Amino acid sequence: MGKITATINGTEAHVDEGTTILEAARTVGIEIPTLCHSPDLIPTGNCRVCVVEVEGTRTLVGSCHTPIANGMVIHTRSPRVLTARKATVELLMAGHTGECVTDEHTSECDLRKLADELEGGAPRFLMRKPRWYPIEAFNPYVRRDMSQCVLCRKCISACREIAKKNVYGIAYRGFAAKVIVDFDDPLTTEICRDCGICIDYCPTGALSKPTKKSEVK
Ligand code: SF4
Repeated sequence: MGKITATINGTEAHVDEGTTILEAARTVGIEIPTLCHSPDLIPTGNCRVCVVEVEGTRTLVGSCHTPIANGMVIHTRSPRVLTARKATVELLMAGHTGECVTDEHTSECDLRKLADELEGGAPRFLMRKPRWYPIEAFNPYVRRDMSQCVLCRKCISACREIAKKNVYGIAYRGFAAKVIVDFDDPLTTEICRDCGICIDYCPTGALSKPTKKSEVK
């Protein structure tokens, strides 16, 4: 395997061919924020939080899924990157409900933490109607509150790649897009057992363990 040398925020990184920009940045101590990325899942680049600027390219690139190339000059915190990243997080927050939106001290929501780090301030983007779904607690293992979902698709990947099941999929389009089970059916014990892997990967609290027995219908 060949070696690649690239410059990230002025520091030279020497990594193996095939390494992503995100992984290369970490080798020189540079953290790029992520939301949909996890080292043990195949990168999808869905959320666009990890975008960086590569000199000579017209558009910002997703660092979690873009392999680094020899001679690349990369900026992870340029004004262009920070403006785009902040707008992305603000848009995700605008389409997201849950206690983290009003309770800034909640520790459950990675999106809220990201918004705080980027100093989102007062919301700039307001949805014409909120994305709202009733809470689903049809089995004792997973409680789904799809109003909190940011469509990062980590639950779909974790279920497929780690649990080796295929419980979740994505359906509908645009604003109506939703993570569903089968044909948007309830997540019953027939379909889902107790592995809980999707809960571990969900960054927003949209998936959680039912806390009260009375909640399970
Ligand atoms: S339920 Fe959670 S993990 Fe799944 S897409 Fe929504 S936010 Fe992401």
